[in-house]
Amino acid sequence: MQALNGTLVAGVIRQGVAARVEELAGQGIRPGLAAVLVGENPASKVYVGSKVRTCQSLGLYSEKIELAAETTTEELLRLVEELNHREEIDGILIQLPLPPQIDARRILEAVDPAKDVDGFHANNVGRLVQGEEWLVPCTPAGVIEMLEHYRIPLAGAQAVVIGRSDIVGKPMAMLLLHRHATVTICHSRTRDLPAVVRQADLIIAAIGRPAMVTGDYVREGAVVVDVGMNKVTTPEEVRRIFPDRDHASRLAELAQRGYTLVGDVEPRSVEERASWLSPVPGGVGPLTIATLMKNTLRAAQLRRGLGRPASLAPRS
Ligand code: NAP
Repeated sequence: MQALNGTLVAGVIRQGVAARVEELAGQGIRPGLAAVLVGENPASKVYVGSKVRTCQSLGLYSEKIELAAETTTEELLRLVEELNHREEIDGILIQLPLPPQIDARRILEAVDPAKDVDGFHANNVGRLVQGEEWLVPCTPAGVIEMLEHYRIPLAGAQAVVIGRSDIVGKPMAMLLLHRHATVTICHSRTRDLPAVVRQADLIIAAIGRPAMVTGDYVREGAVVVDVGMNKVTTPEEVRRIFPDRDHASRLAELAQRGYTLVGDVEPRSVEERASWLSPVPGGVGPLTIATLMKNTLRAAQLRRGLGRPASLAPRS
């Protein structure tokens, strides 16, 4: 079994972005991202902080806008409208989840589709379904970059995506379909999930259930991408999921941070059958922010008529 190293691929993506940002600087263009954070969600604060820092390290302009937890839909709509009109802002990121009093759908639809670096606006979703990849949701776009980096064959492959969310499962399925995979989408109502998944050459697990996909789901030689990011908080669970060799470091992490990050795939049994597996951490996680940077660069170029809505890969 070989590891799909997302940290490495994210580095390659960031390098490419930094090089293009430098070229654009020569033309007086500096792509800019506005990250909007509403409320005090600690995980969201960490995510926004690291997005803004990555922008800075790559030479992109960035702005962090923090609003009170009791912000109303109307107030947030006014901010989005203002950002839509600001010339130095190419990408608008509304960190989710939003507090319950805010109508998240209305907010996401108010973002100018040309600045929608998360790819959540109906225009960008529609374009994706039509096979035009303008601004594509960052996590599935990152998975494609990783599969292409490792030259995993997609055309003609049987791909099974477990999960049908708007941010991962559905766009992931579309991106694979456009690269000529035969795609099956599974979810909580799928009958005999292990039997369906065992048909796959390529498995994408985006479920949100720690270590649910075990070796029994995996055909010998399949490629497995683990999108899951779950916090495991008890030593019993750590012992169940991780083989003896990983126990000590995971338990130490648990003691120090109160949790350890676990994917949707059980590494112990899947490693025995898969040809490739993305680890957690160090697999899909680092790709999401790198792809956000790439989307911000892409938005800056598309808005100025530089480049076209090229696919992330040529459709041949
Ligand atoms: P989500 O919106 O909760 O969707 C989960 C999907 O899994 C749903 O479609 C659900 O089916 C399906 N599912 C749940 N239990 C199942 C079961 N027992 N059998 C089959 N399908 C089942 O989650 P998400 O936002 O797509 O995220 C999925 C995972 O990826 C989470 O662990 C999340 O933390 C992680 N994630 C990671 C990144 C990253 O940067 N690495 C980014 C985004 C998400 P139904 O539709 O029938 O309910």
